[in-house]
Amino acid sequence: MTKKVISKSVASISPSATEETSFLANKLKSQGIDIISFAQGEPDFDTPDNIKRVSNMSIYIDEKICKGCGLCVQICPNNVFQMRNKVNDKGFIIPEVINENKCIKCKLCELTCPDLAIFLE
Ligand code: SF4
Ligand code: SF4
Repeated sequence: MTKKVISKSVASISPSATEETSFLANKLKSQGIDIISFAQGEPDFDTPDNIKRVSNMSIYIDEKICKGCGLCVQICPNNVFQMRNKVNDKGFIIPEVINENKCIKCKLCELTCPDLAIFLE
């Protein structure tokens, strides 16, 4: 018989409360107990249209308007941009999107840009 070895670090991690609640609910159900569980589960409604619309938005930077102030780069909470390699026609170093998958669609970049050069659509 093989012996399972778990590191002390892994063994010290507590299970998530959500997982524990689900486990307990399933255990009670398997015992035939009629319970209503408010643990994790699939919603019984379709994703609302406004959420779908926002999740499909992309980031656009109007390179002709951007003056490379970097405010959008500084305000973004998830480091979606970098200002390093891209230069526009006016010679300004402008932001580029490097981590669009990290964008949480908060629109802080759009609200911060003094020139309305960046937007989500
Ligand atoms: S919408 Fe928010 S997370 Fe996305 S790029 Fe703009 S500031 Fe960053
Ligand atoms: S805040 Fe606007 S003008 Fe400034 S770097 Fe970002 S997009 Fe360009």
